[in-house]
Amino acid sequence: MVTVALGLSLAPAEARKYAAPLDLFGFGLPRPRGTVHPARIPAKIPLPRPRPEDAPKEVAKPAPERPAVEEKLAADKPAEPTAPPAKQASACRLALTEEIAIAPSVPDIHGPGSCGGQDLVRLEAIVLPDKRKVQVKPAAILRCGMASAIANWVRSDMAPLAASLGSTISDLDNFDSFECRGRNRIVGAMLSEHGRANALDVRAFKLANGQSIGLTDRTVPRELRERVLHSVCARFSTVLGPGSDWYHEDHIHLDLMQRRNDYRICQWNVWDPLPQVAPLLPTERPEEAPPREVAAKSGETNEGAEQGDAAKSGTPQPDEPAGAGQTPRKPATKKRR
Ligand SMILES: [Zn+2]
Repeated sequence: MVTVALGLSLAPAEARKYAAPLDLFGFGLPRPRGTVHPARIPAKIPLPRPRPEDAPKEVAKPAPERPAVEEKLAADKPAEPTAPPAKQASACRLALTEEIAIAPSVPDIHGPGSCGGQDLVRLEAIVLPDKRKVQVKPAAILRCGMASAIANWVRSDMAPLAASLGSTISDLDNFDSFECRGRNRIVGAMLSEHGRANALDVRAFKLANGQSIGLTDRTVPRELRERVLHSVCARFSTVLGPGSDWYHEDHIHLDLMQRRNDYRICQWNVWDPLPQVAPLLPTERPEEAPPREVAAKSGETNEGAEQGDAAKSGTPQPDEPAGAGQTPRKPATKKRR
């Protein structure tokens, strides 16, 4: 009886350990359903026990993340319209006061392409030390550094020059400032400094007495133009004028392009007054003149020479004289580099 009683008492204990007599791998999953009270099922489904461990962490993480994202978004949205005023003024901007120039800041320009610039101003006038203003006509869009350089040049060099003529400067004839284009308006060429708002083309200064100083005007005394030449070449890293190429016969290009080793370009041939150049028209070649090398070779080389000359006219020739034969090229000399 005892053994029987033990056998009966052990049977349920073993049944609890093993779901089924043949279930060697513990696959008797249905067993708990029968042993668990229905009341416990709803308590286990929500899984309150594992969640509390992770819950505080999960809740704590998104809490700071969400506000951070919202803050970023919130900061970005108002930043667009308020960017210019909120921007910290550059040292140049702070230095370019209304005592030096009337040059309000304008929004940055981005593109197209690599065109554009930051810290831009609209240079409307330069204020001379005696408080008189030199109007920039039309107002020039320039980087602050370039505008400042122009203002300093006019104030320190051009104003005394005008004073030596017994007058003061009233206007600066701005031929071109910011313009998104390649050098010399050649498509595909390197971006002009004009495209970076780092260049100004100056054609002339007008004086209060009505006189005009055309920087490339041959009727303006040569000495005067040379003084301007020395002035700008000391102040700007690039100066291109008559004789530099075929695009700067009627204005002076100034920019502050930075090159390796501070390399500078100063190419401005101050031509003699017209009366001395005009007689340099081609004259008939004297028969007794020694033969030219090209002409002496054969008749074919004459054609070659002419083609060569024609080719030269289409490409910038820094040492090309602007005298004879320039007339037909004039249409191409407007507002280049
Ligand atoms: Zn230019």
